[in-house]
Amino acid sequence: MKAGPVYVLDLDQTIVGNVTWVNLKYNIAMYAESIGLIADGKALLRPWFVDAIAALIRPHFAEFFAHAKKQGARVFVYTSSETTWATYVIEIVEELIGLTFDRPLFTRANARAVDPSVLVDPKNGSKSMSLIRDAIEKSIGRALVPEHVVIVDDNLGVWDRGDVARYQFVTCPPYAYKAFVDPFDGFYPNVVSHPEIARMLMKANNSTGIAMYNPLGGLQMRYQWCVTTLANITREYEWHKNDEFWLQMRLCGVKGCKARTSLTRTPTRSRAEPPPPPRA
Ligand SMILES: [Mg+2]
Repeated sequence: MKAGPVYVLDLDQTIVGNVTWVNLKYNIAMYAESIGLIADGKALLRPWFVDAIAALIRPHFAEFFAHAKKQGARVFVYTSSETTWATYVIEIVEELIGLTFDRPLFTRANARAVDPSVLVDPKNGSKSMSLIRDAIEKSIGRALVPEHVVIVDDNLGVWDRGDVARYQFVTCPPYAYKAFVDPFDGFYPNVVSHPEIARMLMKANNSTGIAMYNPLGGLQMRYQWCVTTLANITREYEWHKNDEFWLQMRLCGVKGCKARTSLTRTPTRSRAEPPPPPRA
């Protein structure tokens, strides 16, 4: 059988949108678990995460994935996100679309540490095929042919310059939709009022976090904040729902994609839709 293409896909803003809110809730749960305030953070978060991740998956991704599998493609994820977090998100994505990525999953553990305090060597980003190549070849049971490897990422700057010249790159416009989850929901007051967690919430909520868990009026303030935040995000969704990147990828396929193709067509906007969100 003819070997199909090997896709190496970025996660954040390529497969899923902006994870700010789900990540905040996750960090709260993981911290609460680490100090013994809750027993199993990931299990506790599941109901919120299944809904939120379903909303965060980029439009048409499932169609692209199913089509790629049918072509005999192998599909890997390579993200520089933290390993436990990324695995949790990826497994929920797989469950929701009913398809699994090839293993292993490549995460921060497979990326080069980049010290933000020093100038980054422009030749070497944090992601490199040299860090994952052996594992991919072992997984697919054959040597990689660079022309058959398609790397899809919204940020070319994080890649090793040598890879950019060698493999097929498709850069996508960042998919910035943010699914909202109420960071307070599901936690007992002793969790959200813990000083360290209150600090995380304050940071996220422009310093209103402390007031939100104040029993005198805090609930009303929290719900008002949720309604405003959710309304803004829902308006943004009207724009993001028309994103066609994965639809174009499915239609163009690997043969039609020239090296370093940039599929940057912006989503079609209707008159009623707002401008792109200010914080992408
Ligand atoms: Mg990305």
